[in-house]
Amino acid sequence: MAFVEVAVNSKLPHRGTFSYAVPEGMTLGLGDGVFVPFGRRWLQGIVMDVVEVPAFADPKPVQARIGDRPQISPERVRLAHWISDFYLAPLFSAVALMLPPGFERKPQTFFRPLFSLEEAEKLTLPPRQRAVLTHLIEHEGAEAKELDRDLKVAGLSNSISQLAVRGLVERTYGLARPTVRAKTVRYVRLAVPVPQASEAADELATQRRGRASAALRLLLDEGGTLPASELRLRANADLSVLRQLTKSGLVELRDETVERDPLSGRDYGEREAPPLTPEQAQAFAAVSASLTAGQARTFLLHGVTGSGKTEVYLRALEQTIAQGKRGIVLVPEIALTPQTVRHFAERFPGQVAVLHSGLSQGESFDQWHGIQAGRFAVVIGSRSALFAPQPDLGLIVIDEEHEWTYKQQDPVPRYHAREAAEQLGQSLNLVTILGSATPDVESHQRALWGRYQLLELLERVRPILSADGAVQGTSSSTALPPVEVVDMREELKSGNRTIFSRPLQLGLNETLERGEQAILFLNRRGTAGFFQCRDCGFVPQCSACAIALSYHKHLDSNSQEVESLLCHQCNRRRRLFKTCPMCGSARLRPMGLGVERVEDSVREVFPFARTLRWDRDVTKGKGAHEQILASFMNGEADILIGTQMVAKGLDLPAVTLVGVISADVGLHIPDFRSAERTFQLLTQVAGRAGRTLSEDGGPPRGQVVIQTYTPDNYAITAAAQHDYEAFFAKEIELRQAEAYPPFTRLARLVFSHTNPEYGERQAEQMVRQLRADAASRGLPSVEVLGPAPPHVPKWHGRFRWQVTVRSPNPAELLGEVTLAENWIIDIDPASLA
Ligand code: ADP
Ligand code: ZN
Ligand code: ZN
Repeated sequence: MAFVEVAVNSKLPHRGTFSYAVPEGMTLGLGDGVFVPFGRRWLQGIVMDVVEVPAFADPKPVQARIGDRPQISPERVRLAHWISDFYLAPLFSAVALMLPPGFERKPQTFFRPLFSLEEAEKLTLPPRQRAVLTHLIEHEGAEAKELDRDLKVAGLSNSISQLAVRGLVERTYGLARPTVRAKTVRYVRLAVPVPQASEAADELATQRRGRASAALRLLLDEGGTLPASELRLRANADLSVLRQLTKSGLVELRDETVERDPLSGRDYGEREAPPLTPEQAQAFAAVSASLTAGQARTFLLHGVTGSGKTEVYLRALEQTIAQGKRGIVLVPEIALTPQTVRHFAERFPGQVAVLHSGLSQGESFDQWHGIQAGRFAVVIGSRSALFAPQPDLGLIVIDEEHEWTYKQQDPVPRYHAREAAEQLGQSLNLVTILGSATPDVESHQRALWGRYQLLELLERVRPILSADGAVQGTSSSTALPPVEVVDMREELKSGNRTIFSRPLQLGLNETLERGEQAILFLNRRGTAGFFQCRDCGFVPQCSACAIALSYHKHLDSNSQEVESLLCHQCNRRRRLFKTCPMCGSARLRPMGLGVERVEDSVREVFPFARTLRWDRDVTKGKGAHEQILASFMNGEADILIGTQMVAKGLDLPAVTLVGVISADVGLHIPDFRSAERTFQLLTQVAGRAGRTLSEDGGPPRGQVVIQTYTPDNYAITAAAQHDYEAFFAKEIELRQAEAYPPFTRLARLVFSHTNPEYGERQAEQMVRQLRADAASRGLPSVEVLGPAPPHVPKWHGRFRWQVTVRSPNPAELLGEVTLAENWIIDIDPASLA
């Protein structure tokens, strides 16, 4: 007899599998979906192993197999195991990353009456039980949640239990219907030659069957085929009319699957590959050799902003396809990188699938199944697109590999796409390219250690534009735009109290005069950082998160200015205080700068400039990012003002000035990655300037102004020199001295509770236990730090306590610990703040 080990969708934090017997006549393989008994319920699961000896003796049999092909390939089954083990995440949560959209169905409980109404009326029952039973009889049973919603009686579950005990009601368990499926459209087609159909239409009209006649006429007019819905709309032909017509053999009905295509309606031209620059050719040659050899290898493509990394990805994909394989390309956030999708769609028309959270359920369902069927040469998507069922995978690209969005926060599993890609790459012998202008310090160190192979692009590729804006050729040079660092303390001293330093004002004036474009960057939403009482210092905080509320000023539908305070952690909004709740003073003022204030100031100082703002507060709707970007690229605005969104990998040829309003935002967050983060953002945003040569072939115009109160900080000085190596040298020295990644690894445990004292006690208890475990298991290199309140000390009204574990392999210690319900665990956290 065969047995299977199954990952069960139980929603329990369980990392292992459950054993089941394979019944006579059923064959099951790795990755198959199954229904299995679990307690009193039936749940879905995925076969993770087929074995001869089950892990548990005498297991129950599998109830049924789901579908007629495996849900997950064997390599992805292995990858799910690895994710669960490495990130200490429930096994099914890792499996779920790889399942088709809509696979997971909610468990449901059904109640069925076992008595008729007459029989029930003879019984003596308490009023509540009678109400429940009568309802169930009248509705021929009901699902638990429906019953709760429709009946609204107190103590419902108690009444149900009583009824079940007395044998009046039966409880059964099942699963909710799938929430998404393939979409079909019903077509109606003429089944007889035209003259015959025309004759039949006349005849039907005389028989006073006008609707059938009209339907036939319409079909004749429209070439013989129409969707049934259109026939109903235009000829009033409902189902009964269609039945009539099919019965007499005049028409046929046919259901066709239609694909919901997220790229439909987009017009991508076709584009030839340009010749590679010498640097690109050299980088590509290394990738190409590995592709040809079919060996697992990870490249770190470190290319300055504008060096043409995308072209290297495109060539690698071209070769992959030529070898009969396919690729997956990850981007940090697809809405922010429409240009990447465009590049691929132009080079590989009709062969690009996209997967991201902005798709409708139907779209992702169809894309997923299309991918599985091998219809696309490449899948482009955010983090989780790594798990797309792309067959014959040969290449993975992770663009902007340093971005934090590649690490999942919530829900579990808290995995990093780069690490998961490396695992998948090893089991499938893939080539992986990690690309960035500012590689993650850890990735760069790994390249130095030999785990990745480093490829460098030091020169920018600059399209040379002719007067009418067409590309005439390219020129490459190492020159990046000059950066001026302005010490804002000096500006204050010399009496400039505006938010624009004199160099920035001058630069903006010149840019506007020349009719060119500028970007102003400030990584803080809202109008002001916080709101403060000038008399007692009181700062209003979010009651749920215990961090300062940000001040926002916006226009309501009547163009009235509305001021409010907004929590950037949980989005809770509250009205402004008129007077200080602590001291009664009316001198409450917004403090610190936000990007909305920058926009206001630009309008004051440069009243003729057309501005456009790009931040989370103006990009709520679908396609909002693309609209803003398109209107800026079309020259509908002179100055783009935004948060980190403007720092992403955009290619904006007309931008010649970039101004950083304050480089200091984020620099002082208590986290070992805050300097790195600042350096990355500044370098990326500076890289938006000066991408195009002037028509006369002269040097590219481009200028960057960085305003700061800490001009000597190494993150800022290195960014001003576009000097990754200088930043890296300093940062890696600090990491080593302070024992931070990549010289060790971290795990973060957070306990949240409504009672702060209880939380603190639990966290202290955890620290003691972990230290004792480490000692008794002889793990001297483990260090347990804390507990301490994290940077956001409260979350959804619960107080939080953090314990940090530092060790070369945190899972070794933590894998053995059973965590109570209110703990979360994050291996290799993106931040400790
Ligand atoms: P990166 O992603 O490295 O910042 P991009 O991929 O955006 O750089 O490339 C910058 C610009 O140079 C783009 O407009 C791109 O189309 C163009 N480009 C890249 N390589 C070439 C090439 N070999 N010939 C012509 N244009 C190129
Ligand atoms: Zn006050
Ligand atoms: Zn909040």
